[in-house]
Amino acid sequence: MNPPVPPVRDQFLVFGKPILEEEDIQEVVESLRSGWLGTGPKTTRFENDFKAYKNAPHAIAVNSCTAALHLSLLVAGLGPGDEVITTAMTFCATVNTILYVGATPVLVDIDPWTFNMDPDRIEAKITPRTKAIVPVHYGGYPCDMDRIEALAQKHGLMIIEDCAHAIETEYHGRKAGTFGDFGCFSFYVTKNLVTGEGGMVLAKSAEQAARIKTLALHGMTHDAWKRFGTEGFKQYQVVEIGYKYNMMDIQAALGIHQLRRIERSWQRRREIWNTYQQAFASLPLQLPIEPPAGIRHAHHLYTIQWDEARIGMPRSHFLDAMKAHNIGISVHYLSIPEHPLYQEMFGWRVEDYPVTERVSRQTVSLPMSAGLSDQDVADVIAAVTGIIAGVPGR
Ligand SMILES: *Cc1c(COP(=O)(O)O)cnc(C)c1O
Repeated sequence: MNPPVPPVRDQFLVFGKPILEEEDIQEVVESLRSGWLGTGPKTTRFENDFKAYKNAPHAIAVNSCTAALHLSLLVAGLGPGDEVITTAMTFCATVNTILYVGATPVLVDIDPWTFNMDPDRIEAKITPRTKAIVPVHYGGYPCDMDRIEALAQKHGLMIIEDCAHAIETEYHGRKAGTFGDFGCFSFYVTKNLVTGEGGMVLAKSAEQAARIKTLALHGMTHDAWKRFGTEGFKQYQVVEIGYKYNMMDIQAALGIHQLRRIERSWQRRREIWNTYQQAFASLPLQLPIEPPAGIRHAHHLYTIQWDEARIGMPRSHFLDAMKAHNIGISVHYLSIPEHPLYQEMFGWRVEDYPVTERVSRQTVSLPMSAGLSDQDVADVIAAVTGIIAGVPGR
């Protein structure tokens, strides 16, 4: 075990600390003072701004990426008997939403360097029942969309992108979320843009976008969004069994200015990324790969692979030691086939996804957000290097 060393810092460094500025706070306060808290003008503005940022035809704001994925899969017409291919290394919501619509998730092992769905392993998973692929741009590194699009075209599959990590991601000049029929984004507290809870769907078809909008608010006809507006009460009609997935203006208010600062926050994370890469270059760790030309990494996660055999210390001890240094870390993720519920439902075994299995055991996400100060970053580096230097026999 580690010798007791003084922690590198006294105050706990929260993992995924968001950066909120006075203009964000003012915009929320204005919503509160106006009395218009629910879906309204600020939500519309945020949708339009996001649409413009992504150069996408349609954007619908919702209250989470989970809601965005659910509605996209629903509107894509997926249901019982359909198979949906996704990655074995993702957040549970990617798989849960496939289950919400009654479809069957089919997992693909990952690439050992990008941790994205391995394009070489997708085709073997395609059956006559396969209807869609849900690529997840892990950590903000884009999936191999050329290969995925070619497979989707060849086999007539839909693409629904899980862009929870990928707001700023670009691939060969195209923006993440605009490849598929739908692109789903998260504005959860740890993500690159934060509205507390929140999400967005980008859609290609006007008809499908309108249907998502209706389904996000109880299945009430479109004008329902304005039913308490200045134009007077508008009678609404329920046309489908919808959900309560709409975004509030208070949430949109938080997002509007962050979206304008998106480039600045990205630059800051890029800087932190570079600092980590240099500081850890000589340590016995697998570091993230640098994105090649033509790829813009969103730098949502900075993950190191902690190989117990190589370092001489179990990952769990490293996680504990980071906590003792008052540094919040995270693990993205315990892989999908390792969760008891899915094992019970589908008989999945992690050994069938060997790269996923390795990464699931080794991966550690270090703090990576624009809210980190230079001192915070220096503390993380001191803690990681100090823990490795302190391994007996090193
Ligand atoms: C965070 C996350 C989600 C879910 O986002 P919410 O907005 O919390 O619903 C889905 N997929 C991935 C990969 C995520 O990281």
